[in-house]
Amino acid sequence: MTDYADKISTHAAELTELDRQIGDADHGANMDRGMQAVREIDADAFPDAVDYLKKAGMTLVSTVGGASGPLYGTFLLRFAASLGQGDDVAALVRAWRAALDGVVARGKAGLGDKTMLDALIPAVEAMEATQTTVQECLQAGVEAARRGRDATVPLVARKGRASYLGERSAGHQDPGATSITLLVESALSTLA
Ligand code: ADP
Ligand code: MG
Repeated sequence: MTDYADKISTHAAELTELDRQIGDADHGANMDRGMQAVREIDADAFPDAVDYLKKAGMTLVSTVGGASGPLYGTFLLRFAASLGQGDDVAALVRAWRAALDGVVARGKAGLGDKTMLDALIPAVEAMEATQTTVQECLQAGVEAARRGRDATVPLVARKGRASYLGERSAGHQDPGATSITLLVESALSTLA
């Protein structure tokens, strides 16, 4: 979470610029506000990663605002709820799957709608297909997330604020697909 807070800070201006093109220019500021609040959580006050990540998820819900707050909050809450059933690569992948399913249930979007799911779905599928080591699994996830993020450029948005633009949303990279790719990158650089 600390590494992700750093990455979001570094990329906040870029995320906001992407959201300026097809949204309301707040995604970087939204995520930065939320992750700075997460950074302030005293991790030592929680007995384990499950309780810590639940707190982080609730913090995102209450501080991020916008569409992405509840979606990232749901991601962390579902991720946390799935932990504690093993400490191998399969358990890690199950947590990513549970988190992804939570985002789908919450936002009712799917592949090709030009949202964070266009990076997250291929990332989790790649992890599921590469359960060798945590390193290789998350490396595959990062590569798939980046490809999915880049592939949002030509898409016409069908969900979220960008969908109000219709055809004019094409030609721009989705901000949420960009921020979720940073999360997969954080997982690789810290967990692996
Ligand atoms: P808002 O659109 O309310 O200003 P943000 O700018 O913080 O919220 O986040 C926008 C991002 O949220 C989009 O780029 C998209 O990736 C993601 N998003 C929006 N709606 C959905 C949805 N229904 N499912 C998944 N992701 C979504
Ligand atoms: Mg926005």
